[in-house]
Amino acid sequence: METFTTRKGKTGIIIDKFRLKKDKEHKQSISWRCTNYQCKSRCTTDVQLSEVLSFPTAHNHEPEDDRTIQRHQVRGAVKRKAEESVHERPLKMACTEVQCYDSLDFNDAKMLRQSIYRARKKVMPNLPRSLTETCEILQGHQSSILFNINSASSIIMFATPETVRFLQRPTSFFSCRTWPMKYPKQH
Ligand SMILES: [Zn+2]
Repeated sequence: METFTTRKGKTGIIIDKFRLKKDKEHKQSISWRCTNYQCKSRCTTDVQLSEVLSFPTAHNHEPEDDRTIQRHQVRGAVKRKAEESVHERPLKMACTEVQCYDSLDFNDAKMLRQSIYRARKKVMPNLPRSLTETCEILQGHQSSILFNINSASSIIMFATPETVRFLQRPTSFFSCRTWPMKYPKQH
């Protein structure tokens, strides 16, 4: 069964180019209602979303076009990935996702980039203002950030597993140039 993610992050289903959102969850079935508030169409599926138990009653509007439906599908997929992988470049991530849908193009990818920024803002920690706050934030992200706190010297070292894996490659070494440098004058 085709699905999409609603703006509230819930799963919705797509039947015959109509989007339906969850109405009620029962023990053996789920009832769905059309996402169009002025439409009374309802249907029922099993809880695994593998079977439609009763097909949607008549809609009072036209079905959506492929592009609109795919935009809804890709938005949910991208939001989820943006939260899971916080280091990938937003436009690259958006382009990769858009390629999975035949009706979407580069303009959709650019639009999705904003959704990625918004989704990440929610999961990224605030900038810490003290050593204690830094430690607290790092503790809360133990699963995605590797860190070592030396309380005697107040030095904290941290990195992501991706960075560590990258630095283990034996053929080349890159370093972050954060010390002051003199640049040639621009003419
Ligand atoms: Zn409807």
